[in-house]
Amino acid sequence: MSDYRTVVFSALLAGLGSSLSLPVQASQATNQDVKQAVKQQVRPEAVQFSKMRTQFLKEFWKQDPESAMAAGRFELGAKLSLPDEAGRKAYLQFCERWLNNLSAFATDTLSANDQTDLVLIRNYLEANRWYLQTYREFAWNPSQHNVAGGFDNLLNTDFAPKERRLRLISERLNAVPAYYQAAQQSIDQPTLEHTQLAIAQMAGTRAVFAQIQQEAQTSSLSKAEKSELQTRLQSAGKALDGYADFLQTLVAHPPAQGWRSFRIGQELYAAKFKADIQSPLSAQQMYQKALAAKAESHQRMAELADQLWPRVMGEAARPADATQRIKLVIDKLSEQHVQPDQLFAEIRRQLPQLEAWIQQHDLLSLDTRKPLVVRETPEYERGVSVASIEAPGIFRPHDKTYYNVTPLTGQSAEQIESTLREYNHWVLQILNIHEAIPGHYTQLQHANQSPSVIKALFGNGAMIEGWAVYSERMMLESGYGGNTPEMWLMYYKWNLRAICNTILDYQVHVMGMSEQEAKHFLTQEAFQTQAEADGKWKRVQYTSVQLTSYFSGYADIMALREELKQQRGTQFRLKPFHEQFLSYGSAPVGMIRQLMLKP
Ligand code: ZN
Ligand code: ZN
Repeated sequence: MSDYRTVVFSALLAGLGSSLSLPVQASQATNQDVKQAVKQQVRPEAVQFSKMRTQFLKEFWKQDPESAMAAGRFELGAKLSLPDEAGRKAYLQFCERWLNNLSAFATDTLSANDQTDLVLIRNYLEANRWYLQTYREFAWNPSQHNVAGGFDNLLNTDFAPKERRLRLISERLNAVPAYYQAAQQSIDQPTLEHTQLAIAQMAGTRAVFAQIQQEAQTSSLSKAEKSELQTRLQSAGKALDGYADFLQTLVAHPPAQGWRSFRIGQELYAAKFKADIQSPLSAQQMYQKALAAKAESHQRMAELADQLWPRVMGEAARPADATQRIKLVIDKLSEQHVQPDQLFAEIRRQLPQLEAWIQQHDLLSLDTRKPLVVRETPEYERGVSVASIEAPGIFRPHDKTYYNVTPLTGQSAEQIESTLREYNHWVLQILNIHEAIPGHYTQLQHANQSPSVIKALFGNGAMIEGWAVYSERMMLESGYGGNTPEMWLMYYKWNLRAICNTILDYQVHVMGMSEQEAKHFLTQEAFQTQAEADGKWKRVQYTSVQLTSYFSGYADIMALREELKQQRGTQFRLKPFHEQFLSYGSAPVGMIRQLMLKP
């Protein structure tokens, strides 16, 4: 399934910053925030909060240049944050200091919008402190240490002339040897799975280095600058090789105390769920809710399969077991899929159709001026999901948004067929809704229009995934796909993934579900192909809690929509609901609920 790659999230915990002393110019956007606050809310608390928020952001950009770059601010692009003890200590102090500053604020005197900003900053600081002190992924996940993202950002974001960007890159390269040395020193009893992932992802980092070299050759940098950059690239490559050797030696001679388990266990899981998902429900309650949703979906799918049986299966004998009947109908329908060489063309063809449908049915407003570029997933980002949206940060709203699709090349014919059956005629349409329109692409567009820098920065993953999953259902309810039983059956199968992601994640990380059990569960109860189940098993080893965000956010949005229908009765309209819901940036659904239920 589907992943979004915003802006800040991916970089947030990857590169923890050492304290920096370079000046950062106060941004236009934050100045506008202050002006807006002054204009709209004359209360002194609002002005005071606005000033504090501006100051927080100013320090945050310095503290976390990687997050700043991911958000589209490149002032500190030359500075590579080292994953060392000093950097982590400085980040921790930053969190403590700001938690202390914020505690002085009485939230009830602020507007709802400022309150949510305040809560989001506090949540971020508390979560980050927990990540640094308790979760300590920097010690056990070697793949967290990877310089590719920052360099790719500088190389491929058109924020300045190429030569200026290459000079920033050259300066940044200087710190790569120290970076990988710090990374090596940070590693303490890693997991085997993350160690192997780190080794596998190095090819991608090398590809980024090669691209830098290529771009430098065709640039108008001086001869001296080119030669300096070349020398630094060589040192960076050596440092990467050194880290690779270190990890390969670990694999050959495992740590004396054994590998750490990739299963994070009940205690860490409960805390991480609370920090990341920010749902009113606990991890355990959400798991229970997902179990109930699974039973309900199976029931509905059995009805649809029986309805479809004569048309799809003809005279074939019907097995007594409903799960078997569902599986047979899905398998038969899955034969309808695009040819491998038509995958990208078909995705490009569907996007304008989705836009037209939304406009014709008045479901929500779209900004069709912004370009969405379908492209092959950059190599260093491959390996986790089939498709993802890569959106520009809030300060670069005019940049391209990429729809990354992992190409089918380099796989066996059997693997390709399996993937294409999974993303068959119906599911491919749902994938495009989810990733692009009106899912992630549309939501992030609205979020970037939001005047709250904080909500765009510290966006809630469950809200973002929840919206994408909700948008699938909403589109089908509006009749997209012809309201056919085939479309609905495939929808339930797809939705069952979100549900089963939650169940799988909890059972693997908390209850010790084995690989064999997991794959059986995914193929037999979630009707997934072997290729999909294999990919999901990898993903659940590399990540935790993130897989629950789809169902958690979706369930919370559906509940909110019901509540508003009850509250507003015949006054309820879908379009204003969507517009208002998306207007708060990527705030947690629980917070949006508070704002929307206000009479
Ligand atoms: Zn998604
Ligand atoms: Zn086929």
